[in-house]
Amino acid sequence: MKLSFEKSRPGRFFPVMPELDVPEEKVPPELARAALPRLPEMSPPDISRHYSELARRTHGVNDGFYPLGSCTMKYNPKINDEMANLPGFTRIHPLQPEHTVQGCLEAMVRAGEMLCEITGMDAMTFQPAAGAHGEFTGVLLIKAYHASRGDGARTKIIVPDSAHGTNPATVSMTGFQAVNVPSDSSGCVDLDALRAAAGPDTAGLMLTNPNTLGLFDRNILEITRVIHDAGGLCYYDGANLNAIMGIARPGDMGFDVVHLNLHKTFSTPHGGGGPGSGAVGCKSLLAEFMPAPLAARRGGGYAFESPPQSVGRVSAFYGNFLVMARALTYIITIGGDGLRDAARNAVLNANYMMRRMSGAYDAAYPGTCMHEFVLSLDGLKREAGVSAMDVAKSLLDRRMHPPTMYFPMIVKEALMIEPTETESRETLDYAADAFLDIRLQAERDPEALRAAPVSTPVRRLDEVNAARHPKLRYNFG
Ligand SMILES: *Cc1c(COP(=O)(O)O)cnc(C)c1O
Repeated sequence: MKLSFEKSRPGRFFPVMPELDVPEEKVPPELARAALPRLPEMSPPDISRHYSELARRTHGVNDGFYPLGSCTMKYNPKINDEMANLPGFTRIHPLQPEHTVQGCLEAMVRAGEMLCEITGMDAMTFQPAAGAHGEFTGVLLIKAYHASRGDGARTKIIVPDSAHGTNPATVSMTGFQAVNVPSDSSGCVDLDALRAAAGPDTAGLMLTNPNTLGLFDRNILEITRVIHDAGGLCYYDGANLNAIMGIARPGDMGFDVVHLNLHKTFSTPHGGGGPGSGAVGCKSLLAEFMPAPLAARRGGGYAFESPPQSVGRVSAFYGNFLVMARALTYIITIGGDGLRDAARNAVLNANYMMRRMSGAYDAAYPGTCMHEFVLSLDGLKREAGVSAMDVAKSLLDRRMHPPTMYFPMIVKEALMIEPTETESRETLDYAADAFLDIRLQAERDPEALRAAPVSTPVRRLDEVNAARHPKLRYNFG
């Protein structure tokens, strides 16, 4: 497919600009362009066809099943986009005076209050732009808490090996040392190892729950007790809240701070690299350290406040405001019962698919899973020479997005499957049948699987080269 620059022909464009309705200002010469920008020039039908062709080459939730584990690629109701597109939300400037954006402040306050209720927290910020950014912010709160007490000895944060990879990365980014704690044979945190690791140098714990094996840690209350007894604080990676919202609350489990991925659970798709929101909630003991500014109720209206010992800004202005607006719409439209039903159906759908595939594939941890499950294709690779990569690529020819591959790292030849609550039983059956069919083919014709995909615009890519030497700019020659 040609790029728009290659389709461009000089003079073939239709500028349609709104009429000037403000006084004209001359751009100072030192700021004016010396040469016109190099933009493609195309006729309206050619532009329209160009984008339709691009759209046909992508795979989104609107095109088919997208079971990308740990990403919650569910269908997001279109009304949420419509609300986020309201001019009162989009045609504003972050430097506008507070009294002209009271509705926007109210939206932030109300979304924060609802998410506090859902998580069992006391304060919420929308500044972080992604999950990992939320982790960074949350651990800064823990750091500020210990510093405010003059406790400089707490330099370590405990991270179980079933945590998301961003958790240990966050620990180093915030200047702490990560202490790894292994999982036991059931896939949960090894309690003896946790007790041995916790002590006067423990600043806190970062726990991903459900963990990256798709399991809810049954010892969660004991885990937070061990950390609190040692004087540490507990961080809950709630990026996968889709499994528990409306059913269990991190605040009730003993956690002091949590981040949510609004761009997974709350109606903005994850995985496209688009704008995100890693909202961070905390208990009142950490609220005074929250990033500034924080929208709050004041008098009969709303205002921005700066928490007294704030860690400062973690991004310009207020975060990705429209992602918050979609989350607010989602929560209001489906309500508390709807959130709980969504979580229950997400768990039901994952267990249904896992059971349907259980004779043909090995689950890394058989038993009941939460919103996702992890397969290990290690046996299949040794028997038939077919890898997790081969199976994932074969799914592309069956009009499915592959699951998350080779993650979590503690499972060999891992495929991590998250169907989500928005898929029908027919779609789950279609997907399970595709997996079963691939399993049969692995015995009859493994070569065909190793050659997949055959129906996509490009076949197997040189992934190492693409990562090491990415071409990020068009060469105009
Ligand atoms: C997705 C995810 C993250 C990171 O979120 P980003 O928005 O991609 O930075 C962190 N933890 C868990 C458990 C996740 O699933």
